[in-house]
Amino acid sequence: MRDGLINLSDMQSLSNRKKVVSNKKMTFLERIYLPAIFGGMWITFKHLFRKNNTLKYPEEQRVLVPIYRGLHVLKRDEQGRENCTACGLCAVACPAEAITMVAAERVKGEENLYREEKYAEMYEIDMLRCIFCGLCEEACPKEAIFLTDRLLPANFERDEFIYGKDRLVEPVDHRIDISKRQHTGKRSES
Ligand code: SF4
Ligand code: SF4
Repeated sequence: MRDGLINLSDMQSLSNRKKVVSNKKMTFLERIYLPAIFGGMWITFKHLFRKNNTLKYPEEQRVLVPIYRGLHVLKRDEQGRENCTACGLCAVACPAEAITMVAAERVKGEENLYREEKYAEMYEIDMLRCIFCGLCEEACPKEAIFLTDRLLPANFERDEFIYGKDRLVEPVDHRIDISKRQHTGKRSES
């Protein structure tokens, strides 16, 4: 080695590995390629009789483990008020920087909508950035955000993957049950 340059013999001695490339002439069978083509077709043919690992989604759906982390939900309390107080801890905890929000102050008359004085006027998760790690759920001190076992639907438009409050906050008359995943998750930790 000289002036920071490594020559070939130095590299070989560093890794202690080398492969001698042979330029030997191809045999007749190798030159006509037929054995190689039939070999490839034989491998394809064998797969026809093997158990399929793929599913015809969405007609068929895979059974997910109970702790599967899917689409998020922003929960309401028993009285139907939004739990989220826009503290921002979930956004800070998110390693993918997928969460953005705008906080607002609750005004008189909105006590039935928001549990505390501050709430998220805007709350968005970019599902294309999200890695479904669940850290937002762990960071939340208000039990407001949870990951559910729901699958993220496919879409052709990138904008459709930005989930706002209209799709994140659970409907008052259609609560999203997260108890099974939470219960199973706690059991597996212990
Ligand atoms: S699941 Fe992870 S990546 Fe997705 S929003 Fe929550 S913290 Fe961010
Ligand atoms: S979801 Fe939880 S952590 Fe995130 S802003 Fe709302 S209250 Fe805070």
